[in-house]
Amino acid sequence: MKVWAVANQKGGVGKTTTAVTLAGLLAQQGHETLLVDLDPHGSMTAYFGYDPDSIEDGVYRLFEGGAAVGRDMPVPVLRQTRFEHLVLLPASTALATLDRQLGARDGMGLVLARYLRGMAARFEYVLIDCPPVLGVLMVNALAACGHLVIPVQTEFLALKGLERMLHTLDMILHARKIDIPYTIVPALFDRRTRASVDSLRLLRETYPEHLWPGAIPVDTQLREASRLGGPITHLFPQARGTLAYSGLLESLLAYRPTPLDATTREIPGAGQPADGDARGVVG
Ligand code: ADP
Ligand code: MG
Repeated sequence: MKVWAVANQKGGVGKTTTAVTLAGLLAQQGHETLLVDLDPHGSMTAYFGYDPDSIEDGVYRLFEGGAAVGRDMPVPVLRQTRFEHLVLLPASTALATLDRQLGARDGMGLVLARYLRGMAARFEYVLIDCPPVLGVLMVNALAACGHLVIPVQTEFLALKGLERMLHTLDMILHARKIDIPYTIVPALFDRRTRASVDSLRLLRETYPEHLWPGAIPVDTQLREASRLGGPITHLFPQARGTLAYSGLLESLLAYRPTPLDATTREIPGAGQPADGDARGVVG
């Protein structure tokens, strides 16, 4: 099972769109794919027609029991979407309270990783839509994923934000002794604007190793797909957005970790889960 997390602290940069579209492509290829909505805004949950304000059996359930998750706890209910091979683990707005309620409890960092390990026989791919804050949910996404996908809007202010985010991310990964490969994805690229073209060039200069060499163009059909409640891959298979994301998927699938990436994925600060650590869920 491959687990990819889509993250950026900034909103509106195409995280949800990226997770849904990559998952759409994988599902179209016949892979059992799970979309996990870890964002308290629940945009991805709403995307597929569910109301995050009224979901009571979503991903929040995993965290309700604190470190005791997995034993006699109510499990979250997965939603089969209208699209074959595409399953959703929905968010609820209650997720927003998690940091305050459970942030400090031991073992909370590995809840999602352990749950996903239990799903390894059922799903080939998992795409996690991350929250915009680096709290307990984000720590869970980091512990569970084998690769981070970071969409960034091609404009100068967004690049500043990216720099800050990568710095914070580095600190978290270092403190937790994990090393996760990441790919920066230029998004909302408009080649007619100077800002887009110049900031793409700057991205290429600044992050040559981590940057996907392509770019996701502005494509109104991506917005239209979200209005219609389905992945663009299924609704507009020939759209520019679909083709761009196909290129991104190919590159993510071809990714081979360097020896550095093979570091042990232990999370000492997160406490010792009774049934081992997250090592089974990398990929
Ligand atoms: P985030 O999850 O980072 O907040 P979204 O994926 O929800 O961002 O995207 C924000 C808005 O921009 C949505 O309305 C979405 O449909 C639209 N959008 C995302 N990517 C593109 C794109 N490449 N072209 C046009 N619209 C896009
Ligand atoms: Mg989103």
